Amino acid sequence: MDFNLGPEELEFVRQVRAFLDAQAARPDAEEVMAPDRDAHSQLADSPERRAFNKRMAAMGYLGMSWPAKYGGQEREGIYEYLLNEELALRGMPLIGKGVGCVGKTIIRHGSDEMKAEFLPKILAADVEFALGYSEPSAGSDLAALKLKAVREGSEWVLNGQKVFSTSAHFADWYWVAARTDPDAPKHKGISVFLIPMDHPGLTVHEIKTMGHHRTNQVFFDNVRVPEGALVGEVNKGWTYVCEALDFERFTFYTVNPLLRKFERLLEAIRVAKREGRPLVEDPAVRRDAARIATEVEAAKMLQRLVVSEASKGRVPALEAAMYKVFSTRLGQQITDYALDVLGPAGVLRHGAEDAVDGGVWEHFYQTTPLDTIGGGSSEVQKNIIARRGLGLPLS
Ligand SMILES: Cc1cc2nc3c(=O)[nH]c(=O)nc-3n(C[C@H](O)[C@H](O)[C@H](O)COP(=O)(O)OP(=O)(O)OC[C@H]3O[C@@H](n4cnc5c(N)ncnc54)[C@H](O)[C@@H]3O)c2cc1C
Repeated sequence: MDFNLGPEELEFVRQVRAFLDAQAARPDAEEVMAPDRDAHSQLADSPERRAFNKRMAAMGYLGMSWPAKYGGQEREGIYEYLLNEELALRGMPLIGKGVGCVGKTIIRHGSDEMKAEFLPKILAADVEFALGYSEPSAGSDLAALKLKAVREGSEWVLNGQKVFSTSAHFADWYWVAARTDPDAPKHKGISVFLIPMDHPGLTVHEIKTMGHHRTNQVFFDNVRVPEGALVGEVNKGWTYVCEALDFERFTFYTVNPLLRKFERLLEAIRVAKREGRPLVEDPAVRRDAARIATEVEAAKMLQRLVVSEASKGRVPALEAAMYKVFSTRLGQQITDYALDVLGPAGVLRHGAEDAVDGGVWEHFYQTTPLDTIGGGSSEVQKNIIARRGLGLPLS
């Protein structure tokens, strides 16, 4: 049994680190890297971040697992996961939406015109996407979505609303799931469309979330798109959405930010004092740090299980659910613990005098709950474990 990476994978990580070290030495690095503002950094836009994505493209880091026929390198998915681990550690934008969800679905199901239009732009980092799945009454139960798409001649007309479309305020294209057959069973009447974000009839409104990052609601008012905007076949959208989630499941759930959070906790308790004595001398603090260290190691091993399953070509749905529910809860527990032991200074914000570690714990306190919701809530992950892992019936 070997839990370690192989020589080729280690060499790849070494190359990525060298590239990212060079990026960190650039004068605009602050605009691209935000290790302690992880949610903000990954979900925001700026000319510097777009330029960084272009440099990633020039290094050949986009589309690594795509077929050579479409400009890819036919490498295993683990390299995309390893790249995301290094990006996540430094708070840089992760790869995924374009090369993963959109690109891989177009490769498998898109028309030749769609392939010719989008695949080269994705590989060159010339295009940003927003994903429009969730609606006010369709989140965990996504197949209940109601955004209506009706065929009129050679066009589709879309009316309705999406919610939590992250990046919609700066993306170029919108990848949208809509109901095209209201009479079919709910999973069988959904189709996917690709629509320019500045299309007439689309309106984007800001939703402010905890942790100061922005997501959006998007309204469709008679949005008329040509037939070519339909991805693949009509009413096959649910299959495409599930496939795309399967592709992404292991590349998105990185463990490095959790390891870094724990390191920060250790740094904080090493320097902080209570009643004149260093916190680390308190036996209760040492005991708790040891307990958390054990759980962090367990999270690391669960993540390795996800990667190991995916590397064997299997869909690690059960392992990813276990890892997500465990690691996101642990992220919250580490944050809560830090706030408990650091006392009042721990809750001071970035910029406040006396804020511990630049106010990072207050920031984590606001952002960690989002991790337990985005990409499928903890309750939904537990349902997956109960059904797929334990074979328990649906209640
Ligand atoms: C930071 C962030 C970014 C996001 N980005 C996007 C995006 O770009 N595009 C997009 O389409 N969506 C996005 N989402 C939306 C996300 O996918 C949904 O929030 C998530 O799927 C939960 O859906 P909901 O908010 O409608 O909650 P609901 O599904 O209404 O759930 C409410 C509560 O009920 C629980 N619950 C629901 N069903 C069950 C069940 N069967 N058993 C037990 N408990 C249950 C849930 O766990 C939750 O606690 C984002 C969310 C976040 C937080």
